[in-house]
Amino acid sequence: MIGERLSFRTLNREVIEPKICAACFGCVSFCTANKLNVLEIKDDKPVYCDEENCLEDGICYLICPRTEDLEKPLKTRFQFKEPIGSYVSIRSLRTTDKEVASVCCDGGVVTSLLKFMLDTKRIDGAALSKKRSLWNNEPMIATKLKDLLECAGSSLAQSRSISDLGDLTTFASIFSALKGTDLRDLTKLAVVGTPCQILTIRKMQILRIVPSHLVHFTIGLFCFENFLMNDDGRKYLENKISADLDQIKRINLKDDFIIKLKNGETFHIDLEDLDPIVRSSCKACTDFTNYGSDISVGGLGSPDGYTTTIVRTRAAQRLVNHAIHLGYLDEIEQKGALRTIERMAERKRDRGKRILGERRANSTT
Ligand SMILES: Cc1cc2nc3c(=O)[nH]c(=O)nc-3n(C[C@H](O)[C@H](O)[C@H](O)COP(=O)(O)OP(=O)(O)OC[C@H]3O[C@@H](n4cnc5c(N)ncnc54)[C@H](O)[C@@H]3O)c2cc1C
Ligand code: SF4
Ligand code: SF4
Repeated sequence: MIGERLSFRTLNREVIEPKICAACFGCVSFCTANKLNVLEIKDDKPVYCDEENCLEDGICYLICPRTEDLEKPLKTRFQFKEPIGSYVSIRSLRTTDKEVASVCCDGGVVTSLLKFMLDTKRIDGAALSKKRSLWNNEPMIATKLKDLLECAGSSLAQSRSISDLGDLTTFASIFSALKGTDLRDLTKLAVVGTPCQILTIRKMQILRIVPSHLVHFTIGLFCFENFLMNDDGRKYLENKISADLDQIKRINLKDDFIIKLKNGETFHIDLEDLDPIVRSSCKACTDFTNYGSDISVGGLGSPDGYTTTIVRTRAAQRLVNHAIHLGYLDEIEQKGALRTIERMAERKRDRGKRILGERRANSTT
């Protein structure tokens, strides 16, 4: 509306009401008036908790990954090109560390690269999602190998929302780690996150919002979608794997959802078949490869046990080469990864644009 000050009210009208909110909760975590309890999470949605205390500075609106005001400067800064953003190289890498290999999701590149950066004092901490069990995770600042190992792999966790404690999700929040006392004495951080999370960090950096100035390196996860399961959703997935969810040992996402059971059985479930449990917010998302990160990682495009690594800057290329040279990572030549990743990125972009258009149109009628 003309003349309106940007605030959570605007965000609510343009993003939350049209149901295109990514449920990343950056707005709640980095609200300027955080100490006044202005925003909270209810039913997996950000809501006003005390509207009277809202400062109307519009920070929540500007850093939201679904608003467009800072999108153009970001895309210019990262020289965005369809469909996967700009890059220096695309590589298939894996860890050389047996302990990392035993707990990681794909090739253990995230964990080993962070270890290399901590060992060589390029960073003194990393904002990650700590896996307490397959069913439970929490944001943390990792400062040593033990912490990194606790975060490796993927988890299917309890939803953060207080009102639906029984729901399970593959999405993990990392933002609350970035506003806690854990940051005391830290000067250089890495962040690992989904495209919606990395986009929020980048927007914060444009606006110089604390503590984004500490973020020196971003590792962006490929992300087609995430899942959220209530009781019906759980039953739906249990039917697909003919087993209770507590029989799951590991999960992974490439161009399908991979579930390994404790009895050794592996299921590859087509993403189309998982529509009933996809987080509604993810269907309106357009970025698969995390274009705003320093390096992007996923299993898609590489053989099992390797991580496809899109290196986006010359500095990141030097870093990866150094890690290989010092024996943290090794590499195989992999042809054909680019087209595979591009196809997945196009598929997500096209679905996201269609759903965004539909939801925006519905909310104005
Ligand atoms: C939610 C999610 C969706 C993904 N979707 C795809 C996909 O569609 N296609 C694809 O090819 N790859 C996808 N990936 C990436 C892939 O699953 C691996 O994480 C990636 O290949 C890195 O593997 P690694 O062995 O190098 O990482 P590891 O060394 O095992 O480290 C994994 C890191 O990811 C972080 N992490 C784990 N779960 C989460 C989470 N939920 N949110 C934020 N950070 C988390 C951990 O903190 C850890 O540092 C997704 C990952 C996640 C977490
Ligand atoms: S996408 Fe994230 S920042 Fe935007 S409204 Fe939703 S929770 Fe808030
Ligand atoms: S698809 Fe991934 S990046 Fe997009 S909103 Fe969902 S979790 Fe975030």
